[in-house]
Amino acid sequence: MRKFDFIVLGGGVSGLGFAKRISEHGKSVLVLEKERVVGGLSRTLHHKGFYLDFCAHRFHTNNKALLTEILSLPGLKMERHIKKSRIYMFGRYLRYPFEIQNLLRAMPLKDSIPSGISFLWNLIAKRLKSRGPFRSYKDWFVYFYGERLYQVMCYPYTSKIWHTDPALISGDWADQRFNGDNIGKLLKRIVRKIITLDFSNYNLEDDSLAPDGGPFYYPQRGIQEMCDALKDSAVSSGAEIACNVEIVRVDTEERTVRIRHGGIEETVSYDQLISTIPLHELYRLQDRKDQLVETALNNLRYMDIIFVYVFLNKPRVSNDHWLYFPDVDIIFNRAVEFSNWSPHMCPPDKTSICFDITTFKENPEWNMTDEELGDRVIRDAARIKYFDRKDVDSYYVYRVTHAYPYYDIDYKEKLDTVVRFLEQQGTHLLGRTGIFRYNNSDNSIEMGFALAEKFLAGAKDAGSIYSYSIKQVSY
Ligand SMILES: Cc1cc2nc3c(=O)[nH]c(=O)nc-3n(C[C@H](O)[C@H](O)[C@H](O)COP(=O)(O)OP(=O)(O)OC[C@H]3O[C@@H](n4cnc5c(N)ncnc54)[C@H](O)[C@@H]3O)c2cc1C
Repeated sequence: MRKFDFIVLGGGVSGLGFAKRISEHGKSVLVLEKERVVGGLSRTLHHKGFYLDFCAHRFHTNNKALLTEILSLPGLKMERHIKKSRIYMFGRYLRYPFEIQNLLRAMPLKDSIPSGISFLWNLIAKRLKSRGPFRSYKDWFVYFYGERLYQVMCYPYTSKIWHTDPALISGDWADQRFNGDNIGKLLKRIVRKIITLDFSNYNLEDDSLAPDGGPFYYPQRGIQEMCDALKDSAVSSGAEIACNVEIVRVDTEERTVRIRHGGIEETVSYDQLISTIPLHELYRLQDRKDQLVETALNNLRYMDIIFVYVFLNKPRVSNDHWLYFPDVDIIFNRAVEFSNWSPHMCPPDKTSICFDITTFKENPEWNMTDEELGDRVIRDAARIKYFDRKDVDSYYVYRVTHAYPYYDIDYKEKLDTVVRFLEQQGTHLLGRTGIFRYNNSDNSIEMGFALAEKFLAGAKDAGSIYSYSIKQVSY
């Protein structure tokens, strides 16, 4: 039986990061990935000459050491970009982060005046309120920006993305995702600009203007190139990475994993097991069962996503990296035009756009046919003059499960029950999917490095890094 110091379930960026760091220090590690390629949620499809990310994956981090390590991966070329995005609201395409001259021109007075007053009042009233913890996302938003802005700016888009009232989404989601003070700073800047009649454009290099704003890095042919470079680097240090593997069973008593690979079954053994795969999947694969854990798991959900890629006979239709669509009459949430990310993403004189639709498998959208989805997306995009229907060549639909951890209002209690149980079997949970945490790819890689470093520092039983606060894992 082959024996490894570490076996990692799942070859997304967290698993690859762990494998890279641990193998660099002479430890043996086997990564088991069910797909044909590594990368997980950060992979890139290749279809009819187009490279297609899942939506699109910018690489951005405030951790300088991590950035240097990623940018110096052998064979990887990443270009620096400044994020350009717009948002379709009030029937217009507005620059995002909001510029006051556009916002005021577009927003009906019945919304802008009460929202401004409510925001200013909230700046004063906030000082008297306690700063969290916030039970719901609604509580979080209202604390920072006031009730009226919540109704106009937060409720429509959030409930569209999550199919849930923000009052029923846990405040943890916002805490992990946004820095409330940053959005506050942006709104204060907007107010200051109104008062001083300053209509200049923002400096988009400033990553404090909006969540996920500022500069980022992107490879030439999709984010897959970063995942492949991470993988190659781990392999060159001795890691073994097996794709197309079916995990048949995990035996936490015997410390073995039964796998099926290329028609052959094999049992491999480990000292430590790291899991980055969905919690439900890990529970199914291991032997010990527990009624309480099953009940918790039955009520803990990941959100699924549909990508509709539209191919156009035009070199470009916009200048944006991202476009956001809060309007509920539009089926998609966001659009990403790949030719704005890299000229190598599309064949010459063509462009492609990814439209994403978040949903759950039991929802009607998931069960629409590809033709219905393609037609609806193209109809909606043409109606709002994003592109001209006559330029459309074709489309391609791709569905991905477990795309987002879904933070309902009492997810934490259920998650704690599940994590405690899985950790008691000696399994270390890691990454966005493995730990049910709203990570970006940089956070997942950091977590992989951090877990490996804990083992390398001599911890016999490093424990899951679940207990890390997200702030510690540097955002
Ligand atoms: C639409 C979308 C857009 C995003 N945009 C960005 C962005 O712009 N920038 C950014 O930094 N991050 C972005 N992210 C987040 C980023 O994709 C994730 O943080 C990161 O890829 C998570 O990596 P991971 O290794 O933690 O998890 P995963 O990628 O989920 O890795 C888990 C792996 O386990 C494998 N697996 C599952 N079940 C099994 C099994 N039974 N056996 C074997 N293998 C299994 C999966 O195939 C996968 O490879 C985005 C995510 C989504 C969904």
